Amino acid sequence: MRSFTTLDLQYAHRFYGFKGEAQYLHGHTGILTIEVEDTVNAGVNMVFPCNEIKKTAWEVLQNFDHALVLREDDPLLPAILGVYEAQGIKDGAPSNKQKGPAFKTELAWAYPECRLVVTKETMTVEGMIKIVYDLLKDKLNIAKITFTSGVNGATQEYGKEAAAGAWAERERCPLCGIALDENGVCPKCGFRK
Ligand SMILES: [Zn+2]
Ligand SMILES: [Zn+2]
Repeated sequence: MRSFTTLDLQYAHRFYGFKGEAQYLHGHTGILTIEVEDTVNAGVNMVFPCNEIKKTAWEVLQNFDHALVLREDDPLLPAILGVYEAQGIKDGAPSNKQKGPAFKTELAWAYPECRLVVTKETMTVEGMIKIVYDLLKDKLNIAKITFTSGVNGATQEYGKEAAAGAWAERERCPLCGIALDENGVCPKCGFRK
């Protein structure tokens, strides 16, 4: 069975080099849906504890919320950084409290201090799905990701390999559904096997 959650991400971006209105800086409310697949955990009667998908995803994805997303070769990037630098907000401001870890993957890297994400490819809805999968594939057993931004959307299903592999062998806590650690202890509630 599948459990899913949705996240709201407000961001600004542009399609650098694109011949259309999207070459201008503009903003979106993006809705990201992440579906996680597993068996129903007998103790808690859940595939994945409801809030945990969101919590796990939000930890890194909050870097995209109220952020500017620019492609690495976009000349706006050094220009914006120059302005932030001159303003003294490039390396953080006391009011910028919503920060995830400064992740770095092949496809995207985050500068949480200045609410900026740099991407390798243009951040289309399709591009965002690739970024999200890459960031979360080792944390969640993802079966499907859907991302909509205004009236545009894209969706990607992932194979069953992950579900049949490492994820299937993870024993979950019968009290809260979180995967037990290597010592058989629940990192959330402390349950011991
Ligand atoms: Zn757009
Ligand atoms: Zn537990």
